[in-house]
Amino acid sequence: MFGFTPVHVDLSRNSCNLLHMTASSPPTSLTVLRGVPVVAGVAYGPVIRPGRPPVLEDTEPEVPEQDRRGEAARFAAAASAVANRLRERAAHATGAASEVLAATATLAQDRAWLGAAEKRITSGVPAVRAVVEAVDQFIDLFTQVGGLMAERVTDLKDIRDRVIAELRGLPEPGVPLPAVPSILCAEDLAPADTAGLDPSLVIALATTLGGPTSHTAIIARQLGIPCVVAVDGLDAVAAGTMVLVDGTRGTVRVAPDEAAAGEAVAAAQREAERAAHWTGPGATADGHAVAILANVQDGAAARSARETPAEGVGLFRTELCFLNRDTEPTVDEQADIYAEVLSAFDKVVVRTLDAGSDKPLKFAGHPDEANPALGVRGIRIAHGNPGILERQLEAIARAGERTGNAPWVMAPMIATADEAKDFAAKARSHGLTPGVMIEVPAAALRADRILEHVDFLSIGTNDLAQYTMAADRMSAELATLTDPWQPAVLALVAMAAQAGARAGKPVGVCGEAAADPLLACVLVGLGMTSLSAAAAAIPGVGAKLAQVTLAQCRAAADAVLASATAADARAAALEALS
Ligand code: PEP
Ligand code: MG
Repeated sequence: MFGFTPVHVDLSRNSCNLLHMTASSPPTSLTVLRGVPVVAGVAYGPVIRPGRPPVLEDTEPEVPEQDRRGEAARFAAAASAVANRLRERAAHATGAASEVLAATATLAQDRAWLGAAEKRITSGVPAVRAVVEAVDQFIDLFTQVGGLMAERVTDLKDIRDRVIAELRGLPEPGVPLPAVPSILCAEDLAPADTAGLDPSLVIALATTLGGPTSHTAIIARQLGIPCVVAVDGLDAVAAGTMVLVDGTRGTVRVAPDEAAAGEAVAAAQREAERAAHWTGPGATADGHAVAILANVQDGAAARSARETPAEGVGLFRTELCFLNRDTEPTVDEQADIYAEVLSAFDKVVVRTLDAGSDKPLKFAGHPDEANPALGVRGIRIAHGNPGILERQLEAIARAGERTGNAPWVMAPMIATADEAKDFAAKARSHGLTPGVMIEVPAAALRADRILEHVDFLSIGTNDLAQYTMAADRMSAELATLTDPWQPAVLALVAMAAQAGARAGKPVGVCGEAAADPLLACVLVGLGMTSLSAAAAAIPGVGAKLAQVTLAQCRAAADAVLASATAADARAAALEALS
């Protein structure tokens, strides 16, 4: 298990021999399956697969009237037994695992689906069929809503299978306890499967479905085990097959040469050790300084980022402080929260509220929109409600005065130079240093004009990928399109960087791309002056950068921009940076 670890062993020299598996060809040695890398690191071991869910075909006859009450009670008891077991496991787990299990337990007791099943049972449908039909109804609904809701479909199916097993007196479906360190492969993993995993026995995860925000990904990050999702052809790899999972490249190599696999794992381990020993500050091997910063959402996160060599905060997502608020926090309340982050580091970039789309705020007055990702979100909220931005800038300025630490402030979702001009004027009137995020392709294309008004740019590669590729960043199905290695996305990043160099102003990246050590080097080659990532990713990024020269980063950037696909871009960068 080697979290956040790039691999130096170059398996790509064999790439001309690698076959891509098709539905008709079973996986053989030399087969490399490709997916979306979620947690970096390399692991080698035998495949284990979760136990089969119960067979769902149902031939049970209608329940006679006099037995229906009993059938409903049997169903209620089964559902609450499942919820109780999940709650018990939540109590014995920690961190995200515990939260995920508790959330699944709550879903198991959700009145909406329980009611839909009970209604069927009272009309004579046997409990098992009632469960299947009721859950199907909500699966359809969640799938139609899409995004995060669609990713919860796996949770619902998991609850369905557990309740059915309970009704039939069968053992609960789930992950077998392996005898040796193994790699868990599945179509998708339910939270209850992944939350209790022991990372010394389950050393990597690979799934056929799932996206970067799926529970599989969340748990893998917490466990620090390599993880690849949306792996094409994984279903055909049988339990017991030896595989090499590379969470950096996003590959699953079936039955690899044992010595080469061992070498890849050892190289990954060396990288992990280097990361653990990296103490900063951020610089390439030949001394080109790049500020390595942390993404945080509150004072606690900022304080824990101080445990890493982070030199400051490159993105303070203020909207995440207020997701549960019905009313707008007062200027004083806001100032208190911002001051906590400003006291943790000298350099802090505060982002004004990026409310809307996947992060709605109740007090922001979002209109009802058919397509909120393209609607009134980020800075656009201030057009109809300028007071909300004014009060936030006032609070940020107050926090700055109180801590004696002058923050930089940036606006999300800027699309035009006029928006940047307007924001800069407002920020300066509060004595703040203004910048904007580059998340909309239009802003990257017009970065020169935008830089006439602001002092810095920060590239949000998560949204930039979403809007460049016209692909929902929450969609598991479209994860290969929203991959930040897409050359089209990186071409826009390069444009913004060049505009920054011409203007002599800093340009950083604060999207997930900066958390990928290999891509981080490419971003430096493209001209980034800072990289901001989740605290856990910082040592891996800093250590990798310290091993390569600026010339290597630039060569990797050129190679990436000349690549045709995201996979080619990754391979080209690996070669240039190894
Ligand atoms: C981004 O879009 O890359 C970004 C950093 O903003 P968020 O992920 O909060 O939308
Ligand atoms: Mg964004």
